[in-house]
Amino acid sequence: MAANVIYGKDLAEELRQEMKQEVSTLHEKGVHPKLVVVIIGEDPASMSYVKGKKKASEKIGLDSDLIELPEKTSEKELLTLIERLNNDSSVHGILVQLPLPDHIDDQKVIETIDPKKDVDGFHPINVGRMMTGQETFYPCTPYGILVMLKRAKIDIEGKHVVIVGRSNLVGKPVGQLLLNENATVTHCHSRTKDLRAHTKQADILIVAAGKADLITGEDIREGAVVIDVGVNRVDGKLTGDVEFESAKEIASHITPVPKGVGPMTITMLLHNTMEAAKRIHSVK
Ligand code: NAD
Repeated sequence: MAANVIYGKDLAEELRQEMKQEVSTLHEKGVHPKLVVVIIGEDPASMSYVKGKKKASEKIGLDSDLIELPEKTSEKELLTLIERLNNDSSVHGILVQLPLPDHIDDQKVIETIDPKKDVDGFHPINVGRMMTGQETFYPCTPYGILVMLKRAKIDIEGKHVVIVGRSNLVGKPVGQLLLNENATVTHCHSRTKDLRAHTKQADILIVAAGKADLITGEDIREGAVVIDVGVNRVDGKLTGDVEFESAKEIASHITPVPKGVGPMTITMLLHNTMEAAKRIHSVK
């Protein structure tokens, strides 16, 4: 039987409608959540991502600024800008679009953002808070996956979650979030021996490797839930890490690419910005 397709796009739209209401309630309380996105250089993919983030913010009523800086911007100039945004009380969320040019140290930039405004959830303080189960900002893609599983009423507790990928951006934090939800988590990566032996055991399989069609129906256990995080461009078309056609015949639930995880990522960024404003102004 073909799998249920979980459309993150529809869910994201539902959540954004809910958030729009919440933003308008915050406005009534005098709180105007604001996101500032900083981009360096003119990489077309990054530019398209940040424009999408700004547009989505405005659609739900958030204030937003896009600061575009030239490729030659020095690390010192960027850090000074971040300090200024840290001290600007009208700004609640700061996002610096990664990757940065080679002459700028990504980690130094991440660590300069005030953890209270780190809506990407990458600051080591926030990563540590997530590991120890304290209030923090969860990284947007892993958080989007968690919300998607919950909204689709997929049981997580006690389930065997296998994650293909161990990046700081997706693989590791999604594992941590699902461990916090009492899943049993296995991480696979480029040096894992016999990948299929692991993926076949998954109740929930999350694939974030960045390799088109790495996983096919033959790698999946009958009835598994498959979350495809990968975004690959093949012959000008976007495709995931999972071969959708074969996988959907075996899985019970599956996310497509596009219209799957991607729209949830931006939605959780909006959520985190709203949360940042609520925490900074101590409103519920
Ligand atoms: P990354 O390159 O930092 O990490 C990839 C991970 O996959 C590594 O841990 C690596 O060990 C593992 N891997 C690579 N090839 C493998 C193989 N053959 N077998 C097993 N493991 C393998 O990438 P990332 O930043 O984690 O992103 C992963 C994918 O998710 C990319 O396609 C990226 O574009 C996509 N992504 C999507 C969203 C979204 O919102 N939809 C957000 C972030 C990333």
